[in-house]
Amino acid sequence: MSKNKHPETIALHGGDYRSDPATTAVAVPLYRTTSYQFNDTDHAANLFALKEFGNIYTRIMNPTNDVLEKRVAALEGGLAAVTVGSGQAASTFAIMNVCQSGDNFVSSTDLYGGTVNLFTHTLKKLGIECRYADPSDPSNFEKLIDEKTRCFYAETLPNPYLRVFPIKEVSDIGRKHNIPLIMDNTAAPVICKPLEHGAAVVVHSLTKFIGGHGTVIGGCLVDGGNFDWTKDPKRQPLFNEPDASYGGAQWGVVVPQLTGANVSYAVRARVVLLRDLGAPLAPDNAWGIIQGLETVPLRMKQHCSNAEKAVAFLQKHKNVDRVIYPTLHKGEIGERSKKYMKGGNGALIGIEVKGGVEAGKKFIESLKMFYHVANIGDARSLAIHPATTTHSQLTEEELLAAGVTPGYVRLSIGIEHSDDIIADLDQALGASGKPSLKAVS
Ligand code: PLP
Repeated sequence: MSKNKHPETIALHGGDYRSDPATTAVAVPLYRTTSYQFNDTDHAANLFALKEFGNIYTRIMNPTNDVLEKRVAALEGGLAAVTVGSGQAASTFAIMNVCQSGDNFVSSTDLYGGTVNLFTHTLKKLGIECRYADPSDPSNFEKLIDEKTRCFYAETLPNPYLRVFPIKEVSDIGRKHNIPLIMDNTAAPVICKPLEHGAAVVVHSLTKFIGGHGTVIGGCLVDGGNFDWTKDPKRQPLFNEPDASYGGAQWGVVVPQLTGANVSYAVRARVVLLRDLGAPLAPDNAWGIIQGLETVPLRMKQHCSNAEKAVAFLQKHKNVDRVIYPTLHKGEIGERSKKYMKGGNGALIGIEVKGGVEAGKKFIESLKMFYHVANIGDARSLAIHPATTTHSQLTEEELLAAGVTPGYVRLSIGIEHSDDIIADLDQALGASGKPSLKAVS
């Protein structure tokens, strides 16, 4: 159903779901169950031995989650997906599915602050080392590889810099060394498809644009099905060495044999990581996210067009020192937005309000329609001061490396009418000066 279809259609009809097989219900039903009745003992044994695929237990799979997984996979152009309890769990699983103690991976420096904490501190305590590469020069990734490097990791549209990541350039480097590129595409669903540019895996916080209404936390890993996990067995031991926890399965070998598809990454994440670490997405939350997913292509168009209008307004505003948006970067970095952002340049905007920290704080407190929250991707417009909130656990050095200056304010532009968004920005900026709506041409 999803093949050759457009995102607007996939979001509503994708995921091999036409109607509920048991009831013919058209809307995806919410299956609130922990377990599933086996047909007989052979059926149960076959499911556990992966000789047959089917429902066993909701920590590992659920029919509501299954529709969401298939739809997100189809939207990204991937082969399979696994949902988890949050975007943060998705990033954790993404790395733990390829790295074990003693291994390392190379990540872009442009990252969400929570991911920096996970990579720099928590994974380090588990013996997994993150090496940071500045993505302004893709060759920085190659310089950090050694024989224990298992993957590359980056965000498509990371704030605060909002520099679009050089997906193909870094993926090409990785593929030379049989290293998969994992892309966090949270900020750019529909408008960028990292798998088309060579990424092997896509990670989403479903909490943001896909859920879209600020109601549900969730995450997802999408297996692109485009990476050969067995080509260099020493490079990917978790997919080639026998897994003692699963009857000696060599995941890179056995999954294509059993399924006829290159979905080893997704299957291992499900049957090993979800089995052992837990953190499944609750079916209620999967159902909530499906409601958002069905309109995400429409919403992304409105987010992007509103953001462009807001950027034009802010750029001319006398109380704004600097506007950060993907298309405003000069040279090669600016060109990347044309190359990769096919459906728009996203909803996120960074601004430096004239007058530094105090003016930035005053601006946020003066907003009447924008919500002051630690979130992005809500249908409503949002604003935050990262240095004192989302990025506050980073050291001064980490803050600067992440591009979070003291006066920086992050805006996540919603889908309200653009005139109302601009009017709210205008009156709030007026609180720190005397700008005028006439600034918009
Ligand atoms: N990735 C990005 C780019 C994010 O912005 C966030 C949260 O803000 C996450 C991952 C983590 O997602 P969650 O809050 O769903 O755990």
